[in-house]
Amino acid sequence: MRFLITGVAGFLGAPLANSLVSDGHSVVGLDDLSTGDPDRLSPDVHLVRGDINDRPKLWTLLQGVDCVYHLAARVIVPESVLYPREYNLVNVGGTVTLMEAMRDVGVKRVIFSSSGSIYGNQKNQPMRETLRPHPQSPYAVSKLAAEYYIHTIGELWKIETVILRVFNAYGPEQHLPPAHAPVIPYCIKQALDNGTIVVHGEGKQTRDYVFVDDVVNAMMNAATTSGLNRLIINVGSGKETSVNDIVKTVMDISDTKPEIVHNQHHDTGPSRMCADISLAEKKMGYKPSVTLRQGLQKTMEMDKRFQNKKKPDNR
Ligand code: NAD
Repeated sequence: MRFLITGVAGFLGAPLANSLVSDGHSVVGLDDLSTGDPDRLSPDVHLVRGDINDRPKLWTLLQGVDCVYHLAARVIVPESVLYPREYNLVNVGGTVTLMEAMRDVGVKRVIFSSSGSIYGNQKNQPMRETLRPHPQSPYAVSKLAAEYYIHTIGELWKIETVILRVFNAYGPEQHLPPAHAPVIPYCIKQALDNGTIVVHGEGKQTRDYVFVDDVVNAMMNAATTSGLNRLIINVGSGKETSVNDIVKTVMDISDTKPEIVHNQHHDTGPSRMCADISLAEKKMGYKPSVTLRQGLQKTMEMDKRFQNKKKPDNR
């Protein structure tokens, strides 16, 4: 098959592209390289630098494509609070531009990487796809709005759509920006550097952490499994883990004792998040295969930034 991946040089886009080409598929990728890293891509992936709102470029790239993976987005929640217009432009506007271009060229299938963050705070855990979304940030709103556009434009122009609500993906080479760093690479780096880990609030807030390989497998299955048209499907581990548990497990695996400081005044977002993954299992045979402990170990072993530091054990 021939695929277009938007956001191809990103944390999720690059391993997806590399897995598809190693399975013999043809992959063209679009990325503006605002956060993406082209060096992560196999030479067999045809990368084109460009903006998701560049419709003429999309017309060209979409020629002969069987299926689009739409991943290009701005992804930092606190940044979206400061710059909601930017998040709307890229995440919502870019999605509409893509759907219009797909309609113009006649491409018939899109898989969208949405986010578990659209659920916001919910009493009922684990969260099913049927819950009423309660987005709590412009980022989450932008992903939900993009879902609606994909669903509706898809229906109007007979484009098959699959929406995957990905929870907290982690793994080697996850971005580690100086501000607003994701919990897992931040904790690993601080532990291995013997630094201080700042935990927001009491650290009891939970998330559903899913290893990158499991997300990539779900995405790949979504392209070929029949009967998924119009579905919204959670992709997570199905397990709830607190920040304190992440810190403890990282310390245990790395055999380090960093200082832990709690910042009580920081907004911690939703208090609990856990994906109900029964629909993914039923419709795509999805079963996460990497436990949190294994995933943390793999991240420490495979991420170049953590090499030459303390080696994790193999328990
Ligand atoms: P990422 O930032 O690594 O990837 C996004 C890619 O899009 C980057 O390579 C970036 O350069 C590119 N991009 C940004 N703006 C663009 C623009 N205007 N035009 C073209 N390309 C642009 O993030 P990721 O973690 O790989 O996330 C990929 C997708 O999955 C996103 O849509 C995100 O919302 C979604 N998602 C990710 C997670 C997660 O835990 N990683 C969870 C839920 C949903």
